[in-house]
Amino acid sequence: MKKIPPPCAYLVRVIEIIDLSPNLRRLVLYSPELAQYPHQYNGAHLKIFLAPSGQNKPQLPKFLNHGFSWEDPDNKPIVRTYTLRDYDAQQCTVTIDFVKHGDNGPASAFAEQAQLNDLLGISSPGGPFPMVKSALRYLFVADITALPALEALLADMDQTAKGDVIVLLPQAEDLPATLQLPAGMNLHEFYGNLMQIPAVLNCVSNLAPMIEDDFAWIAGEASLVMPIRAQLRDKWHLPPKRHYAVPYWHDGRTEENYHTARHKFIDE
Ligand SMILES: Cc1cc2nc3c(=O)[nH]c(=O)nc-3n(C[C@H](O)[C@H](O)[C@H](O)COP(=O)(O)OP(=O)(O)OC[C@H]3O[C@@H](n4cnc5c(N)ncnc54)[C@H](O)[C@@H]3O)c2cc1C
Repeated sequence: MKKIPPPCAYLVRVIEIIDLSPNLRRLVLYSPELAQYPHQYNGAHLKIFLAPSGQNKPQLPKFLNHGFSWEDPDNKPIVRTYTLRDYDAQQCTVTIDFVKHGDNGPASAFAEQAQLNDLLGISSPGGPFPMVKSALRYLFVADITALPALEALLADMDQTAKGDVIVLLPQAEDLPATLQLPAGMNLHEFYGNLMQIPAVLNCVSNLAPMIEDDFAWIAGEASLVMPIRAQLRDKWHLPPKRHYAVPYWHDGRTEENYHTARHKFIDE
């Protein structure tokens, strides 16, 4: 495994805007400095830094041992967490896929209104390294916010991998035609809003219990992730080191508002 360099931030500009599906927009981001981007694997998370309203260039943070600080604390950018969907060292680009959930959130609004040459900041990618551990059998559960990570992780899977992939997406058109699963993995598709979560939970409950040599990767809205983690831990007794279960967002709460509760859940 590569040594992880100290984190830093990059000012990047939008060079390509691609509508992948009704609810997902891809932004390809460029900076010559990305030639040295400390890429570990696609699917890792990163921070984005968006200029406050009325400005077009965000301040970038100075990274400390734990967290980051601001030279001008009265003019902090908006910070959000996204997924490194792809990295191209030759083209000096990082690709991020944004859910378009309206202009109620600054990150969604930025993606929906993005123009070529718009500026934003990105951090180097964060751990865990690796995110998926080698296993006899896998379970992946993702909503649309976790689809970029899911796609990236599946693309790197061993073709002999076995298990189940469950997706909950707003519409059938949001399922990428390019989604590639190893032959031994089954795809379970659910479409609609959060009202479909009970059907997804039912699907998980009907799978054969996971055992210690298995690995589960669960990401999406909090009320999807929390009961599945409870099933993994309390009913199947899967040890914490054999699963990744991260609420990527919480319906009705902003990133600032949910950040502490998410970390409390993860650290439990
Ligand atoms: C590790 C990690 C990786 C992530 N990767 C991605 C990614 O690659 N792509 C991606 O799109 N998201 C990703 N997310 C989720 C993203 O960080 C959140 O959706 C975030 O809240 C979006 O910020 P915002 O400024 O648009 O909305 P906020 O200002 O945070 O929220 C405003 C309102 O919008 C609601 N909201 C937030 N997200 C959604 C949504 N997806 N659908 C409907 N309503 C929503 C909130 O509940 C709130 O009511 C990731 C999160 C984590 C923790």
